[in-house]
Amino acid sequence: MDKAIKRAATCISHLASIDGFFATEDPLYRRYRDKFHDMGEAYDSFAKAMYFGGYGRQMQLADTLDYMILSRGAIWSCDSKNRSDYMRMILYTINQLLQEEHITYFPELRRRFLTYLENRGLDNLIEDARYKENYEIAKKLDEPLGYKEHKGVYWSIDHLLPKSLGTVIELVVYLFLMRNSGSYVLPLLLHQRMPSLTKHIIPPDFLVVKQGRVFGIEVKQLRPTIREVRHTNEFMLESGIPVLTASVPNTVPLRCPKCNKWILYCDNIIDKFCDFSDKIESEKIQCEGCNEEIYFGRLGSGEREYHYHLRCVHDLPYVKEVLAKPDQRSKRLIAYFPYVQGLERLTG
Ligand SMILES: [Zn+2]
Ligand SMILES: [Zn+2]
Repeated sequence: MDKAIKRAATCISHLASIDGFFATEDPLYRRYRDKFHDMGEAYDSFAKAMYFGGYGRQMQLADTLDYMILSRGAIWSCDSKNRSDYMRMILYTINQLLQEEHITYFPELRRRFLTYLENRGLDNLIEDARYKENYEIAKKLDEPLGYKEHKGVYWSIDHLLPKSLGTVIELVVYLFLMRNSGSYVLPLLLHQRMPSLTKHIIPPDFLVVKQGRVFGIEVKQLRPTIREVRHTNEFMLESGIPVLTASVPNTVPLRCPKCNKWILYCDNIIDKFCDFSDKIESEKIQCEGCNEEIYFGRLGSGEREYHYHLRCVHDLPYVKEVLAKPDQRSKRLIAYFPYVQGLERLTG
């Protein structure tokens, strides 16, 4: 996304330049800048809603990325010759987001990333005292960070990224809806609140329009909390629009238990998914000889079955033995398309 990010940054600098010119040249314009500043805490806090060096930043980063993909990108993709490339770019972004997430697990990579980030001279990188405390601990810790074990320390690192896994899952659902639902898809990920004069409701993650009907689609990431259920119910009551809950299966995303790295969508899956003449009959296919081969199975008799990078386990005698049988290869060497459960009514 380097070129797109650079141009999005130029767009913000352009807005700042317009504001800077008029604030310097035009006293009447300047008067309104002063009025903003006179609003004190309210304006400071509004400004911090754009970027803040503390907890909550992961949403701000994710929204900016979503703006590029789901707003500007979706408009770009509506030139129909671009639609397949659009989906390809989203899949590449998903793979990149998964790789970024490795900073939570691998301490050496984390340290190098933090040093790189600190040396970039970003304004407001760390502003909050409690966040800073946990960030400093994370920097020194020489172990994988987990949200259960390390809580605030884990989140201090996770919140340096654009909500990696959450964004991955939302983008997988978006791709699935476009490719498989036969509907028009409106992502609402950037529109997380619908205000009225004094109240607001929280819309679902997507709206889809199919043959005269409108459905909301809420992406279930973990077990939905009572609060989330209440939001969905409120939205349905106020709008009259039914909301379907989509859940991603536990194969999205996959972490290889051998190397602890995320398993990416291979080039073969990406090519097939983005070739619209290829009908997707099943959520998985046999996939061999690609750049990210998956082995699904055991590493020894009596063990549990997991998904591994084939490259991480192919030398093990048990795996060699299994893969020597042709009927096992079709079951064991598999790859998944972006897919989602719970939307059979839409896609069927
Ligand atoms: Zn691996
Ligand atoms: Zn593959």
